[in-house]
Amino acid sequence: MKTLTGKVAVVTGASRGIGRAIAERLARDSASVIVNYAKSDGEAQVVVDAITLHGGKALALQADVGRLDDIRRLFRETVERLGRLDMLIANAGYAVFKPLADITEEDFDQTYALNAKGTFFCLQEALRHMADDGKIVCISTIGTELNVPGGSCYFSSKAAVEQFCRVLAREVAPRGITINVVSPGFTETQMLRANMGPDALRELVALTPLARLGQPDDIAEAIAFLVSPGARWITRQNIAVDGGIISR
Ligand code: NAP
Repeated sequence: MKTLTGKVAVVTGASRGIGRAIAERLARDSASVIVNYAKSDGEAQVVVDAITLHGGKALALQADVGRLDDIRRLFRETVERLGRLDMLIANAGYAVFKPLADITEEDFDQTYALNAKGTFFCLQEALRHMADDGKIVCISTIGTELNVPGGSCYFSSKAAVEQFCRVLAREVAPRGITINVVSPGFTETQMLRANMGPDALRELVALTPLARLGQPDDIAEAIAFLVSPGARWITRQNIAVDGGIISR
């Protein structure tokens, strides 16, 4: 459906995985999409080419969204090149899985720089440019509720994101802007494969009532709904998209 005609979305971390699926899905609804990435120029261009091939509009913009200068440049260039900003999908994230006792200062700083600080300043900077009635979706994880061992650093950085959204949704409601969190379950991407071996993946499927791993498209569908006109009355929510693992 062409529900997002004339709207501009920034998707952070969109060169692969969940971010890529979101960028492609929003483009199918006729949004113009900024495909943000930090390092993977080639992969980001593949996403842009795939969108363009299907008649959509997309632009790859490199910016490390763990760095404030880059974040400012990302949103400035978005508006300079596409004329406006209507949606932010704060998706870029980094996960470390280790017992708390083994987490290094570098692990902690890397995780918090991107997930907590990066998301915070993406929200701040996006709101400086965003049109009234804009839509924001931040990506967390069901780990903030599951609390499985090894997730202390990663889950706590995402819990911060959930908290930003609970407060900010009230602050920006007078502008008609909605903010929601989507918390994916176990989703088949490079991040999951980097952290879990085949036995662990089988255990994750066994934990999932719908009995499979999630696919990036499963997550993108929920986001497409949350930024659509039909979701106008939904804000300050944290929606698990996880095949039924947690229940709120
Ligand atoms: P992924 O496969 O590792 O992809 C991460 C994406 O983020 C890539 O496009 C990467 O591009 C980009 N990125 C990384 N660091 C960046 C930075 N500093 N600035 C800008 N872009 C950056 O991850 P994913 O599994 O799709 O995860 C996406 C989100 O979902 C994350 O927030 C993650 O925490 C969350 N999540 C994932 C799962 C899961 O099971 N996969 C479950 C729950 C939540 P470059 O290579 O260019 O850096």
